[in-house]
Amino acid sequence: MYRKFFIDLYTKNNFPFDEAKSEVDLILDILFNYGYKDFVLGKKLEDWQSAKVERVVKERISTHRPIQQILGQAYFYGRKFFVNENTLIPRPETELLVKKALDLCKDSENVSVLDIGTGTGCIPITLAMENKNITADSVDISTGAIEIAEKNALFHNVYERVHFYKSDLFERVEKRYNIITSNPPYIPLKDKENLQNEVKNYDPALALFTKDEQGIEFYEKILDKSEDYLLEGGYIVFELGINQAELVQEMMKKLEYKNIEIIKDYNSIARVISAKK
Ligand code: GLN
Repeated sequence: MYRKFFIDLYTKNNFPFDEAKSEVDLILDILFNYGYKDFVLGKKLEDWQSAKVERVVKERISTHRPIQQILGQAYFYGRKFFVNENTLIPRPETELLVKKALDLCKDSENVSVLDIGTGTGCIPITLAMENKNITADSVDISTGAIEIAEKNALFHNVYERVHFYKSDLFERVEKRYNIITSNPPYIPLKDKENLQNEVKNYDPALALFTKDEQGIEFYEKILDKSEDYLLEGGYIVFELGINQAELVQEMMKKLEYKNIEIIKDYNSIARVISAKK
């Protein structure tokens, strides 16, 4: 079979063409390490390969489970990460958080990072890979997430500088850090119905929802205690949900954080906030 056969299979089942194309390319990349260029040059899949791709595409079409969960891998910052039903699929918006954290410590020699609610571990692992001076402790309340995160750290060879442990926020955190990062759950439970089916039905609820009306419960809880876990002049960097920048900024001001910066994403949504203690 040719690549086009599978793209057609998607579009015949009402997936937009661009989505179909990028998903087929992801499948061919993850399963066989093929780039689309191989196919533009006329490559054809062997029968056993076609059968494998067809199984994946049919599952995707019939269940609407996200393709990354079916394949068990997703791209983040240009690298592959293992994902499963216990972890949020890493998103491009989170790369902005990583960029900001890298920028904040680019001139420092030894940088310690604490990542709260680490999921796949994509944040601390990327930080450690991008900057050899970084060591990170990463916590998550989900043991299923910790297992995947450790696998990712091993896969990317940063196991010695990035450590994971199970902790409900700061519960088992014992030291102070230069930078605290977090992409916590930030969607108010009442907004669940408005979400895309892929997110609503398959991303872990634990990683998405907050009990409060504004989705700011975790920013509050983290900021409330962050003073005890940041070194002098340390930074905090959060990913934000829609319409949360002002609320979080107010909290930070009350706690006398300085140098507050808000970064917008590709859709002009205030997506990342950073501040200095
Ligand atoms: N920190 C992880 C990520 O950015 C998990 C986030 C979460 O589960 N809320 O993907």
